Amino acid sequence: MGLSGLQIYKLLPRTNCKECGFPTCLAFAMKLAARQVELSACPYVSDESKSQLDAASAPPIRLVSVGPEKRKVEVGNETVLYRHEKTFYHEPGLFYRIKDDLAEDEFAARVAEIADYVVERVGIELSANGVALECASGDAGTFAQRAEAVVEAGLPVILLCDDPAAVDAALKAVGSTKPLIYGASDDTWEAMAGLAKQYEAPLAVSTSDGLDGLAALTAKIKGAGVEDLVLDPGVRAWPQVLKTQTTLRRLALKKNFRDLGYPTIVFPGEAAEDPVDEALMAAQAVAKYAGFIVLDTFDPASLYPLLTLRQNIYTDPQKPIQVSPGLYEIGDPGPDAPLLVTTNFSLTYFSVAGEVEGLGRPAWLMICDSEGMSVLTAWAAGKFDAERIGKSVKEFDVASKLNHRKIVIPGHVSSISGELEEELPDWEILVGPREAIGIPSYLRNWS
Ligand code: SF4
Repeated sequence: MGLSGLQIYKLLPRTNCKECGFPTCLAFAMKLAARQVELSACPYVSDESKSQLDAASAPPIRLVSVGPEKRKVEVGNETVLYRHEKTFYHEPGLFYRIKDDLAEDEFAARVAEIADYVVERVGIELSANGVALECASGDAGTFAQRAEAVVEAGLPVILLCDDPAAVDAALKAVGSTKPLIYGASDDTWEAMAGLAKQYEAPLAVSTSDGLDGLAALTAKIKGAGVEDLVLDPGVRAWPQVLKTQTTLRRLALKKNFRDLGYPTIVFPGEAAEDPVDEALMAAQAVAKYAGFIVLDTFDPASLYPLLTLRQNIYTDPQKPIQVSPGLYEIGDPGPDAPLLVTTNFSLTYFSVAGEVEGLGRPAWLMICDSEGMSVLTAWAAGKFDAERIGKSVKEFDVASKLNHRKIVIPGHVSSISGELEEELPDWEILVGPREAIGIPSYLRNWS
């Protein structure tokens, strides 16, 4: 259990010097107990107090890293139950299960389809994270050789195997790339913990003995010197997975229950009736609160929505994804090309730019600084008004690029056209469609 605010207060200098940004040491102590500040914000803590306070300020859910540095997947270290309380930090890793006994060609093709899948959304490349390699062959040599093939394709690997000898063989081949060992059970934990320690690899822990059994097992493994653990509480059906994942998150965050303060792993395909069911269960796991999600069916049609959901949930709600304000060229616009204006919320930018690109007609797109808000939100917050648009036209020297003086504003902010006429007296203010999807038909008639 962590220290209370008052216990922490007793370990602070109690000089109320305010350098931490709080008016008193007590206020800082309360924030530290709630894990809303870092201990390093107080420069005057003694070494003796620091060691005690470090324990209190350590993350309630351990950060665990899997895979080589270039494509590592970091999960855990979350601090809130609900995203709106602050943010979620480390998105769950999406891994696809491949059995090691597939024919070589088929195996290589399956690895390649996972490694090669990349989509771009709001300017960010999204992809699956790695392969969960199942030792279906029962042969240590085959398992090791296939693990090597996954790593050679540049992907992190989870070693799904209950035979310590086969895991040892695979670790000899790929141990330096931080594979996740899955895993330690009541029967194998000593051998698996030994391997995890030897190769400094993270270790998944599973039991069908409930959360009490899981906590007892992690305590034993931690006692054996392995700290990077991942939890599989052993349930598979939808409601139980949701309940258990929520319980684990609550125990870690609200009760600071250290023996269960680790990220989790789930296997949606093991209870799903079909691939759609599996994708829906995976979506549940993205939202609540999986660290690693092992899927059985690779299908871009379900992977893309999962990646989108994951990106949305793991974006800091206080820092929307933004593009830089400026004048953007879509296609190769000349001085006659239309000029559209919108906000610098990434989704807005890419929606508008995508529609213009799809039309194949070049255009100028002026992006105003709206602090990353979408059109209506920015307008309501006073971040996308006539003054800002007028200022941007001047700042980006838009007039020098055009031989016309027409500017198309989003239909949602038609009410500002009068004020914008005052800001830009030489310009004709045109009201465009409300939604980006209406832009192509609008521009077809633009002259
Ligand atoms: Fe107290 Fe440290 Fe904050 Fe100063 S910086 S008020 S000593 S907690």
